[in-house]
Amino acid sequence: MDNQANPGTTRQLWRFHGGLHLPDHKALSSGRPITPATLPKRLVLPLQQHIGAPAKALVEVGERVLKGQMIAQADGFVSAPLHAPTSGTIVAIEERPVPHPSGLSAPCIVIDSDGEERWTELHPHAHWAALDAGELRNVIREAGIVGLGGAGFPSFIKLNPGARTEVDTLVLNGAECEPYITCDDRLMRERAGEVIAGARIMRHALHARRVVIGIEDNKPEAHAALRDALARVDRHDIELVQVPTLYPTGGEKQLIKILTGKEVPSQGLPIDINIVCHNVATAAAVHRAVERGEPLISRIVTVTGGGVAQPHNLEVLIGTSVDDLLAQCGGTTPTLSRLVLGGPLMGITLQHRGLPVTKTGNCVLALTPGEFGQHGPVRNCIRCGECARVCPANLLPQQLYWHARAKDFDHAQDYNLFDCIECGCCAYVCPANLPLVQYYRYAKTEIWAQARDKKKSELARERHDFRTERQERDKAERAAKLAKKKAALEESPAADSEEAKKVAIKAAMERAKAKREAAGVEPKNTDNLTADQQRQIDEAEARRATEKKNESANERE
Ligand code: SF4
Ligand code: SF4
Repeated sequence: MDNQANPGTTRQLWRFHGGLHLPDHKALSSGRPITPATLPKRLVLPLQQHIGAPAKALVEVGERVLKGQMIAQADGFVSAPLHAPTSGTIVAIEERPVPHPSGLSAPCIVIDSDGEERWTELHPHAHWAALDAGELRNVIREAGIVGLGGAGFPSFIKLNPGARTEVDTLVLNGAECEPYITCDDRLMRERAGEVIAGARIMRHALHARRVVIGIEDNKPEAHAALRDALARVDRHDIELVQVPTLYPTGGEKQLIKILTGKEVPSQGLPIDINIVCHNVATAAAVHRAVERGEPLISRIVTVTGGGVAQPHNLEVLIGTSVDDLLAQCGGTTPTLSRLVLGGPLMGITLQHRGLPVTKTGNCVLALTPGEFGQHGPVRNCIRCGECARVCPANLLPQQLYWHARAKDFDHAQDYNLFDCIECGCCAYVCPANLPLVQYYRYAKTEIWAQARDKKKSELARERHDFRTERQERDKAERAAKLAKKKAALEESPAADSEEAKKVAIKAAMERAKAKREAAGVEPKNTDNLTADQQRQIDEAEARRATEKKNESANERE
């Protein structure tokens, strides 16, 4: 295991395999303070902006909503709600193009802003330390907070280690290692207090023994701001550690290795080694949700690259279109060749500018031809092994490539495809310009789809088996009842004869008569009449007799 001393702290640091020293291009935007983006006229909010099930709409077209109002609820355990980023009217709930590698559309809620920014009622928890871990997680869940470092996993789940698991270390990831992106750097410089406040809340929720904040040594201002913020709150249980700048130090497994020397097991999670890792921006969002009652409705986005006139760090309402952001940054340059949501290595190419920024969108990158890793023509693999040398997950990328290309997904999994963090180091160094990460994403998507289909057919078979079993059971029960009745009849000596029926009817009539007599009520209409009733009957009889007499007389005439 490689290790090295960490200048300035007593903490020993380790190294992960591979990695790259890349031109960081951060100076384009790192000097730009966070500026609120202007309020857009229209916001498009995909119901799925996180790992897990899409949220379920709670509103209808035409409904008016307030800023911060929940407009879609979590649908299942691994899911996250959505909130209106501003006040306005719901104008559509429909499929719209979303930023996704597939380029496909997905259900979205569309809000037209009324320009008033009227908030819904908020419920802050100033005394959050009095809440237990479950209550805190619930506040964080209801606020729709997901990992803002790019993965988008619902944060409340990562804050729930389970009753039997002790959390040794909460790692806060302030590495921000991907070139161009500076939104976390600006957040740590300008809102260090929010990051520290969020770290304390997260530690309380996890009952973690310690907190370690890892920050790359190319961000000295952010490091100083966090150090000062820690000194102000006198927190000696939160350790701030500078780590060497090397891509992809910001990978969860890589940062944990550097800070603790521990390896997250293959296809495992940090909690398997009693560690939980969250991004610094997620910590700040947790602080806002808990102490101010604000749901996640905005995030900081770096808009940068040679293809944009004035790079910025903007505080952006979720759902704002990329086009709006580019316009606020002076528009694009004539040399723009490619728009990317995210960084140059892990981001996704945007098909058009109208796509919305989601909770995980940390950067809008406008690249010019040849600006960063834009390769020449694709050639055949020459088996140089460069990709394996730089892979931080210690994989064999060329083998993964062969198996993914051949659609041999079983073998791709044998080579630990799912340990690939899609960092793009392999593709960056590949002399054959192979789009390696695209092959890995394709293979993963296919494997997930096959697993889903398999689960579906297993479920359908289970349902079919259950229904058949129930039908057979019902049939057997009916047959058993019938057989029992038949047996009972057969046991009776005159069961089938007419004589037996007559005997049975007679016996029943006698039983009924005996019952009536026993009760003393053998009812007759003319029994027990009162004197008045008898007089009325006599009068009626007399009238009838008179009428009959008259009729006879008439007939004779
Ligand atoms: S770097 Fe490219 S060419 Fe070299 S072995 Fe890997 S995939 Fe093949
Ligand atoms: S993209 Fe995957 S295979 Fe390539 S270097 Fe990164 S982790 Fe390794």
